[in-house]
Amino acid sequence: MYGLMMDTPLLISDLIRFADRNHGDTEIVSKTVEGDIHRYSYRDAHARARRLAKVLQGLGVKAGDRVGTLAWNGYRHYELYYAISGMGAVINTINPRLFPDQIVYISNHAENSALFFDLTFAPLVEKLAPQLKTVKHYVLMTDRAHMPKDSAIPNLQCYEDLMAKQDDAFEWPSFDERTAAALCYTSGTTGNPKGVLYSNRSTILHAYGAALPDALNLSAYDSVLPVVPMFHANAWSLPYTCTMVGAKMVFPGPHLDGKSVYDLIEQEKVTLSAGVPTVWLMLLQHLSSNKVRFSTLKRTVIGGSACPPAMIRSFQDDYGVTVFHAWGMTEMSPLGTVGSLKGKQAALDKEARYAVQAKQGRGIFGVEMKIVDEQGVELPWDGNRFGNLLVKGPWIAKGYLKGEGGDPLIDGWFPTGDVATIDPDGYMQITDRSKDVIKSGGEWISSIDLENIAVGHPAIAEAAVIGVSHPKWDERPIVIAIKKPGQDVSKEDLLKFFDGKIAKWWMPDDVVFVDELPHTATGKLSKLTLRKKFADYKLPSN
Ligand code: AMP
Repeated sequence: MYGLMMDTPLLISDLIRFADRNHGDTEIVSKTVEGDIHRYSYRDAHARARRLAKVLQGLGVKAGDRVGTLAWNGYRHYELYYAISGMGAVINTINPRLFPDQIVYISNHAENSALFFDLTFAPLVEKLAPQLKTVKHYVLMTDRAHMPKDSAIPNLQCYEDLMAKQDDAFEWPSFDERTAAALCYTSGTTGNPKGVLYSNRSTILHAYGAALPDALNLSAYDSVLPVVPMFHANAWSLPYTCTMVGAKMVFPGPHLDGKSVYDLIEQEKVTLSAGVPTVWLMLLQHLSSNKVRFSTLKRTVIGGSACPPAMIRSFQDDYGVTVFHAWGMTEMSPLGTVGSLKGKQAALDKEARYAVQAKQGRGIFGVEMKIVDEQGVELPWDGNRFGNLLVKGPWIAKGYLKGEGGDPLIDGWFPTGDVATIDPDGYMQITDRSKDVIKSGGEWISSIDLENIAVGHPAIAEAAVIGVSHPKWDERPIVIAIKKPGQDVSKEDLLKFFDGKIAKWWMPDDVVFVDELPHTATGKLSKLTLRKKFADYKLPSN
């Protein structure tokens, strides 16, 4: 017997229609590539998204076609999110920080029929255009005044000129909610990037999950600044989730340094922001060196890589901003867990609460988790045993575009490639990427735990821990660290700092101070680069 409820499809266009109706005058503010501040409302954005859908139709874009973007967080990119998915086509947000040959690979693999890009990327597109085999239309996301005088980009068109030629008399079509909506490529350590293809349904369900109080806790009360780029797993879904709840959105454009982010947070009375730890490092440095504080920021979501407990402490103790440590993957839309506290933990002392917050968090309804050993046998949720983390749920990928890499699932579960513990309260803690795990004498050492301790030292700004080969133990950990400007610490003192915080056999064998650490295109420490660089490293004891 079926229920007697409507089978209304879950469509992305309904989000912006709803926001127009219910939050029509709520603002969307963008710091543009050109440097000025642009403001308009959900109502304006909806009208422009409909107009843009007509522009796309005019360019010959049809349902199911892929349209690429190379763009920062801003209102035109937001319009593209809604116009492309709303008309039944697929937005392929390409990470401009990838190597040019990867960008070419992605655009060709996705078979993008048009490419929309910000002014910043015009020189890049000019270089790559001859290799972009399927792109028929190049649209620069700017107005006539900012169009380059001469450009080798074939048939270059101006976004605002195209918009001026259309009106907003467009009705969003209705279609099957499983229709593809957005496409993000994720880079593995080997091989080409693989396409994760979100549907309208998965995007809406994920937005509901993300908005929940124990997840991002978003509401029409909020002013939200996503520092996380719209080309990194859809800015962790904030352009959808904010629209769903009617939160004000504040887009930073390319202005991502500590001062610019701080100024925008203050000007636009931002209450919640989200980004990877490296971004917050810059922001915290700006705050401490300029002795400034936040007046409205209450929460910050930190994820993408492990948030060091020292960062949680600094935000909460020094600036009164609650940190939500979040974990997820491009393949998970991306949210999997968020580290919010339970009522029973409110009475815990501060240190105990910090220990809970340092974990990657609890699953959101819609994400099932399990940990298994090397043989695939499920491990208990005791907070101690660690194993490979597998997930399943309606916003988790079941495969990659064009079947690349084969069927990733194991008995219907998606293997995350992360190694984790889960405690009896359901809090998951990542100990490592499986390929970053350090194996010493047959046992695993968590590089994340060691990094967290290293950056807890007052003189250390950032640290990476990798395994280097050892004749007896197979691998031993070394710390590669950057000192804070004007601070000093010796190798011996940094090692002493680990004393009593870890088992003796976890003690790093060496410390190397460097001026810079390599990061990936999504701002994570690139352990692969470090492992290559230190491949022939000789430990002092050898
Ligand atoms: P991506 O798909 O590029 O966002 O990468 C996903 C991977 O980033 C995950 O599988 C984790 O290895 C890592 N990651 C994301 N969030 C966290 C976190 N809070 N702590 C540790 N690792 C994380």
